[in-house]
Amino acid sequence: MQYIGGIDIGGTKMAALIADRDGPLVRISEATVKLGTERAPAEQAMTMLKLACEKAGITLADLGAVGVSSCGPFVRNNGFIELVAPNICGGIGNRGDLLNEWQSVPLEAVLREHFSTVVIQNDCVAALAAERAFGALQNEDNCAYVTWSTGIGFGLCVDGRLLHGKNGNAGHAGHMLLTDQSQAQCGCGNFGDAESLASGRNLEAQYGRSPADLFNAVKEGDVKAHAAVVHAAKWFGRALYNVTATLDLKVFVIGGSIWHHHGDWLEPIVKEEICAHMPALTTGVQLIQPALDSHVADIGALYLVMPEAWLIYWRSQSLWQRVAEVDLA
Ligand SMILES: [Zn+2]
Repeated sequence: MQYIGGIDIGGTKMAALIADRDGPLVRISEATVKLGTERAPAEQAMTMLKLACEKAGITLADLGAVGVSSCGPFVRNNGFIELVAPNICGGIGNRGDLLNEWQSVPLEAVLREHFSTVVIQNDCVAALAAERAFGALQNEDNCAYVTWSTGIGFGLCVDGRLLHGKNGNAGHAGHMLLTDQSQAQCGCGNFGDAESLASGRNLEAQYGRSPADLFNAVKEGDVKAHAAVVHAAKWFGRALYNVTATLDLKVFVIGGSIWHHHGDWLEPIVKEEICAHMPALTTGVQLIQPALDSHVADIGALYLVMPEAWLIYWRSQSLWQRVAEVDLA
């Protein structure tokens, strides 16, 4: 195998990557398409992959395998993975802020029309795998990758084993119910789950301004905005406590745009919420930054189909770092 492709599908953005043994060659990204037929996101992924191939001077037929890290949850239809993602499918949850009626998005079936080897994993699981292969978790057996962004998601590793579950949906702890006293509604339809209380999309729904505006207001001393964000951080911390209590984890790598930009001052609030409960379970729990930074899910997508020999070479040469150099945005 000479070339591999990677696709990273998020609720806000989609990326396509091409790589060979010597590292990433091209990365392009676009806003995730949420209009048209249910096939639109998968067809967008194919179009982007084709463009990325052209920029790398190859064709789609040159790709030996394609790895996909995607927001979930996943369901199976005739054995093929489809996305039932609250941040893409407007037909679930009845929130009305997505302008489509999709109940699910066929992903694997469309990709398999073009490629014989396709591996699809939840984006947080792929990110966790990448951090364990190349990044901050190479020697950690009880750990999680958590994203705090448009949504909230987890990838979980216990006793050195990544958890997948019956449909690859292990780690959807963003949809754990935390309170029945809240009017905050998640894209999944739940009221009072972790994502409804703290995710970027749902902060916007609750407070009527984008996360960027909300955090800017905090910087400018807006007391109400500050209280709203602290409230969200406490709920996020409570979700991390629940996961710690359930799985006895030691290290959380936290990524996602909200944490990436504001983690420096949110961390003590989150940590305090975790450690305020049951010291026997929570003492020594660490929150750390992703070593692979904002490209962690992209590298995770490539990692899913990377030959073992490349993996060892990429690790020894830190070749994943080149993704920033080949990023055409
Ligand atoms: Zn939810």
